Amino acid sequence: MKDSDWNGQVIGLKRGAKPSRKTILITGGAGFLGSHLCRRLLTAETRIICVDNLLSGRISNIAPLLQDPNFTFIEHDVINPLWLDGPVDEIYNMACAASPPRYQADPIHTFKTSALGAINLLDLAQEKGARILQASTSEVYGDPNVSPQPEDYFGNVNTFGPRSCYDEGKRSAETLFHDYAERCDVPTKIARIFNTYGPNMRASDGRVISNFVIQALEGAPITIYGEGQQTRSFCYVDDLVDGLIRLMGSPAEVNFPVNLGNPLEFTIKELAYQVLRQTGSRSSLVYKPLPQDDPKQRRPDITRAKTLLSWQPQIALEDGLRNIIRYFEEELARKAAASLV
Ligand code: NAD
Ligand code: UDP
Repeated sequence: MKDSDWNGQVIGLKRGAKPSRKTILITGGAGFLGSHLCRRLLTAETRIICVDNLLSGRISNIAPLLQDPNFTFIEHDVINPLWLDGPVDEIYNMACAASPPRYQADPIHTFKTSALGAINLLDLAQEKGARILQASTSEVYGDPNVSPQPEDYFGNVNTFGPRSCYDEGKRSAETLFHDYAERCDVPTKIARIFNTYGPNMRASDGRVISNFVIQALEGAPITIYGEGQQTRSFCYVDDLVDGLIRLMGSPAEVNFPVNLGNPLEFTIKELAYQVLRQTGSRSSLVYKPLPQDDPKQRRPDITRAKTLLSWQPQIALEDGLRNIIRYFEEELARKAAASLV
């Protein structure tokens, strides 16, 4: 199904799905990471309920799954309570726009998504006796004074700026996960996800890898914010999804935050040159003002994930970039063909 064919109808809980299957609820399931999780977790033993308000996600990300009787899509905003019939065994709470321009477009809704969304889903987990995993973020470290960032670093976060709705919303969700685990015995998991990229990101998402690849493919100037000396560590989506699934399956004691990300660190300028090299583009570099509170460095310490989950990223930036370049080439070719019709 194309996004233009979607008429807003809710595809309700499907009859005929086998009750013996494990039921997994994925909020934000039509987004970038959520759609990969839906695809990976829909197996002969599972039934997936995907909940999304389509704010930054899109139906085309989950289109191949919609015909499956064990896949259900519900259009719903997690700031409101979610009532579901039947059992739920696991909840992956991925709902929240992750791109700075998108989450800053409506900061109050972004904060509500993290805080009220966490309360609503933790209540649901308690009612159903489900395990619940929170997609937290490296943004809880803010503009870190420590590198690499271990989970016991409390962070350096501005409560009063354009990124605060996201950073503080995610921090408040972690607090709620802690308190529901302690006081209500809800089995919780917290993944602190570092910058992740791959197919199913939107061309217009606004994050750095999608921006650079689209600009390079279109021959447009590559927009570097600041001098490009700030660093990020980029994880390919398949590695990240593997880490999330391992964390969900980890022993009950593992209810504290676990960093998931690729520890190899690059400056944004290095990333720009890498994209130019791999696309063969002749785009120029243009320098734009650095956004307020933009973190200067970010690199995960993944000792916990290595020790507790036997997990570490396998896919090199060069290989991941090759995949997302191919994905966007195909998307641009489809758009060009559609505009000729
Ligand atoms: P995304 O924007 O592609 O996906 C988010 C999904 O959540 C979208 O489908 C969106 O429509 C949906 N959504 C947003 N607000 C909602 C609401 N109130 N109710 C229901 N659905 C809502 O982003 P992503 O990169 O796939 O990120 C997924 C999750 O992982 C987010 O919670 C994000 O904070 C977290 N995360 C991602 C990264 C990353 O680099 N991709 C890094 C750190 C954390
Ligand atoms: N960035 C950039 N050009 C862009 C988009 C982003 O230089 O077109 C920079 C941005 O300022 C930040 C880094 O790239 O320093 C990563 O930005 P992104 O929005 O992907 O993620 P986040 O800042 O949340 O880590």
